[in-house]
Amino acid sequence: MQTSNERKEKVVVIGGGIAGLSAGVYALNAGFEVEIFEKNRIPGGECIGWNRKGYHIDNCIHWLTGTRKDTELYDVWKKTGALTDETEYAPLDAFYTSTYNGKRATLWNDLKKTEEELIAISPEDEAEIRKFIQYVEYSKQCLFPAKKPMEMWSIKDYIRMGMNMKDFPKVMKEFGKISLEEYAERFKSPLLQKLMCDYLPKEYCTYSFLVSYATMADGNGGIPMGASLQMSLRMEKKFKELGGRIRYGCGVEKIVVEKKMATGIELEDGSFVDADYVIPTVDTGLLFGKLLSKEYMPKALKAAYENEKAYPATSGFQVAFAVDEAFNRAQDMSETVFIDIEPLKVGNRTFDRMYVKAYGYDPVFVKDGKQVIQTCINQTDEDYYFWKSLSKEEYERVKSELAGEVAKRIEKAFPLVKGSMEYLDAWTPLTYERYCHAYHGSYMSFVTTPYGKQIKMKGQLKGIKNLYVAGQWTNSPGGLPVAVASGKFAVQRILKKQHRDIEI
Ligand SMILES: Cc1cc2nc3c(=O)[nH]c(=O)nc-3n(C[C@H](O)[C@H](O)[C@H](O)COP(=O)(O)OP(=O)(O)OC[C@H]3O[C@@H](n4cnc5c(N)ncnc54)[C@H](O)[C@@H]3O)c2cc1C
Repeated sequence: MQTSNERKEKVVVIGGGIAGLSAGVYALNAGFEVEIFEKNRIPGGECIGWNRKGYHIDNCIHWLTGTRKDTELYDVWKKTGALTDETEYAPLDAFYTSTYNGKRATLWNDLKKTEEELIAISPEDEAEIRKFIQYVEYSKQCLFPAKKPMEMWSIKDYIRMGMNMKDFPKVMKEFGKISLEEYAERFKSPLLQKLMCDYLPKEYCTYSFLVSYATMADGNGGIPMGASLQMSLRMEKKFKELGGRIRYGCGVEKIVVEKKMATGIELEDGSFVDADYVIPTVDTGLLFGKLLSKEYMPKALKAAYENEKAYPATSGFQVAFAVDEAFNRAQDMSETVFIDIEPLKVGNRTFDRMYVKAYGYDPVFVKDGKQVIQTCINQTDEDYYFWKSLSKEEYERVKSELAGEVAKRIEKAFPLVKGSMEYLDAWTPLTYERYCHAYHGSYMSFVTTPYGKQIKMKGQLKGIKNLYVAGQWTNSPGGLPVAVASGKFAVQRILKKQHRDIEI
């Protein structure tokens, strides 16, 4: 332990997204001096938003796992300043609605209501619908373990988890290796087939979808009011209040390794910052190959990058508009609605579905009687290559033409908005690549498909003693829970190495 006269050991964190801010807060709590280096001018990484024509466009939180106060993850959100007991959540009562051929079906947070609605839509699917609801119910037991990294679990921890999740193995057995596309075929109703496949990319393992819906239905996936960027700013505030220093506009060029120790980092301006410990939280595609030599990349991760079919990345082509505030009122459906569209060619693929999400539930997205709506067309590696192949001029032209096509399709689906829609912005997988160095513009980590294995990194790399990797890529499929917990876990791994108490 250090005495007050001794120099504090210094932790350097690379990246000021959710993982970096979390690592920063926990490292300060553990008594380290901490400095975060972030290439952008604001914190948050992918958990941000931006303004256009006076409207705020939210980039991130569709649901935040860990908003239920009795969960381990809530404790992490609270400790990092992201949430407080006073945080208010969006008053939403459903996951999403799918429409098809003039009919619609909604996944309500109230499972009973969903069950009744779906059976009324398709009585011939009753058995499959009841099974679906039952397995979503089981999936509520799947809570994110955020107390400590799994390699530090004791037998007792495993027994407790086994008891708390006693029905969840049934979900994995039945749905662990089946894609959403295959699952949807079990339903006879074309509308229900769409409903099952609309939200997550169709290659996703079905259990991921059940767990996502269960999180909403269990009141554990709220959307904090005030937008995603505000949550990142609350974490930054906490970090600074605890004495942390964050340097913006400070891209890291490489991690300097000498004699199996990371001695510090070299910044893009050529200066060197020394460190006792380094916690990189950036995308692993950038970490291995730019910041560190590719030789350090764990084998399982390398195999994933080499097999795009089994380990796809997922992103989106998105467009935001301002429309009348009354856009989605007086309709018995949720804020997020998937619609059929006249086929739209984006690059080499043609799409016949997209969603429209209305943000009027939070005043931060409302201005002068108008609210922001956003649309998204799912994109994957193939689409990323298309966007990447365009020149700067072509990219701008294609993006703008497609935004116009998207607008026409929204007007067709919701004739009331005709004439009142104001274009705000459009963005693509390249936006995430540029802004966050995200691999193929990915929102999360690799998609969990039936053909791949889940990536789980223990944070330490062979050949570097004092470096602890964090960030959403350490545990597929990533997302905010993985990111925030990984920051905590990286610090706990340091403490374990120092034979100190890991309770922080
Ligand atoms: C549209 C969208 C919607 C999403 N919705 C949800 C949702 O509803 N629920 C959910 O759980 N998750 C959601 N996610 C995923 C979530 O945003 C991410 O999982 C999470 O923000 C990742 O955090 P991170 O800190 O691991 O990585 P990042 O956010 O990528 O942070 C890494 C940081 O490192 C910085 N950086 C990169 N290179 C350097 C360098 N060389 N030097 C210094 N800094 C560098 C980047 O600028 C970035 O700030 C969504 C993501 C997107 C894009």
